Amino acid sequence: MSPARPRAVLGTVPLYAPDPTPVELDLSDNVNLWGVPPSAARALGEPLAAQPNLYPRSDPRELRTALARYAGVSAAEVITGCGSDDVIDGALRAFAAPGEKVAYSAPSFSMLVSFARVNGLQPAPVPFRKDGDIEPDALLAERAAITYVCSPNNPTGTGVSATAIERVVAESEGLVLVDEAYGEFSGRTAVPLLARAPQLLVTRTLSKAFGLAGLRVGYGLATPEVVQVLEKVRGPYKVNVLGERAALAVLGDDLPWVRRHVEASVAIRERLRVALAALGLRALASAANFLCVPVPDSAALGRSLLGRGIKVRVLRALPGIGDAIRIGVGPWDGMERLLAALREVSR
Ligand code: PMP
Repeated sequence: MSPARPRAVLGTVPLYAPDPTPVELDLSDNVNLWGVPPSAARALGEPLAAQPNLYPRSDPRELRTALARYAGVSAAEVITGCGSDDVIDGALRAFAAPGEKVAYSAPSFSMLVSFARVNGLQPAPVPFRKDGDIEPDALLAERAAITYVCSPNNPTGTGVSATAIERVVAESEGLVLVDEAYGEFSGRTAVPLLARAPQLLVTRTLSKAFGLAGLRVGYGLATPEVVQVLEKVRGPYKVNVLGERAALAVLGDDLPWVRRHVEASVAIRERLRVALAALGLRALASAANFLCVPVPDSAALGRSLLGRGIKVRVLRALPGIGDAIRIGVGPWDGMERLLAALREVSR
């Protein structure tokens, strides 16, 4: 018998294991389906120039400065990580002691619950309001060490109102983590609140609008004091040399590319919504680059689409919604292919 015994709580943590079936059209991850920004492609064309035989800098000052300029804060207010997953995980460890609560509106980002459990914390889900906004009273009533707000929310896509976020930030007794992984698509941000909210951490990523998911570059914005605490728990060398180079290239030269594709995503998302409605599929309102579509049996529909070379995210029994599929938005020809498959399936 093995003497190595995993902590009992890990028995309650599912492995993050999306369906590995290779497909021609993968709409399951909400990434940038147009591809990599040209400046990043150029930077990655010369991988040895990044000197991968050396460690990355543990304090990627240049990247922090570039992200700070993009976000409208100072470099001391930026923490980078191996994806925003890394920043979220570290924040949970840094600002809640084992046994303390992480409050969030359910359903939300599945990894939040896993990270909470792995860090010995207690996930405390509360319902959304009927109109899809978060319910500040319910979140605040948990008196949690950490309150997580996903804006816009994954997997529903729904936007969160500025008034609700402001209230949670103003009245929360612990850290408020606003996850803006899809913030570029909503055009809204909680960053201006940082000036008067020492308990706020905004996390963001280059995995979605920026087209660099495979390079794993994420970041957080908070007061310099919070950033220093997060640096301690994160550890060094999380952003690798290629990720750093590509990120700097896009932030320097390709923000117009990012903006153009954000605009295209939003336009195609709404065109797709209309086309889905014509098939009797009513997507939830979305402020992100994906649509969440309630369906009677998401597993069966997911299997049928997979059989036609298309992968969507299958969501089972979401609180207040039921089964649903989540469709990442990309170039229109892919959306047409999805619509054709849905038409076939519903025949
Ligand atoms: N937050 C949300 C809401 C997400 O959907 C994701 C990715 N699926 C992440 C954070 C993490 O993204 P990354 O680690 O690639 O930055």
